[in-house]
Amino acid sequence: MREISVNEIIETVKRLCIEANCILNDDVYNALECSKCKETSPVGKEILCQLTKNADIAKSENMPICQDTGMAIIFVEMGQEVHISDGSLTDAINEGVRRGYTEGYLRKSVVSDPFIRVNTKDNTPAVIHYDIVQGDKIKITVAPKGFGSENMSRVYMLKPSDGIEGAKKAILETVKEAGPNPCPPMVVGVGCGGNFEMSAYLAKKALLRKIGSHSDKPHIREMEEELLEKMNNLGIGPQGLGGNTTVLGVNIETYPTHIAGMPIAINISCHVTRHAEATI
Ligand code: SF4
Repeated sequence: MREISVNEIIETVKRLCIEANCILNDDVYNALECSKCKETSPVGKEILCQLTKNADIAKSENMPICQDTGMAIIFVEMGQEVHISDGSLTDAINEGVRRGYTEGYLRKSVVSDPFIRVNTKDNTPAVIHYDIVQGDKIKITVAPKGFGSENMSRVYMLKPSDGIEGAKKAILETVKEAGPNPCPPMVVGVGCGGNFEMSAYLAKKALLRKIGSHSDKPHIREMEEELLEKMNNLGIGPQGLGGNTTVLGVNIETYPTHIAGMPIAINISCHVTRHAEATI
């Protein structure tokens, strides 16, 4: 059994919150860069230039890429041979978020109750997903998620008879309806299968996959490529002002499901699709 103190967790989460919000991941940045050559609209091209310039300034000045520094979504891969000492893991993660958002001057966007809506003033609690894995390490991924794009996400409980064409239609329709609201160019995470909540979890996790990577299942890879092309033909364009750069990537994750159902979740993300990770 390997001991890891909560103090190390707190410091790591704090650092990752700041890093994720200020440094755009290379794959997203490169996808924006590449889009400049392919974008046919002059306005769209100009917006893409502004987006990379904004990301450059954020990185060099250690400032958030966007004013919406998101709700802190945390994925934890917890080695089953790790023992957490000196306190609770969940409390430590929330303390790391509290310190990261306070010391990093990141916007606090969480309210304590969906109806009473009083700001918690430190961006806690985080949404934490735990996964128990083999080994004696902990991998922590912090993925701040803005709600301009989160609000445009959907879950469809399709019937098996809807088939792959029904799934594609639902995914495409979601992006079309989202239009300019999620600050395009978007990244589209899709979860197919499992049950209601598993499909949503997979869709969120799909956003962590590198842009330009593909599913190793041939039929899913085909679906990713086809949807990306169709989405970019919708004409929404950068920031919704027209053009052919509506989506930077479509990442689809799948899971076995029940004979009677076909859940499909679509988690829309924006041009500030962020995450930072560390292994302790
Ligand atoms: S959708 Fe993304 S870019 Fe738009 S405000 Fe939210 S975090 Fe910022």
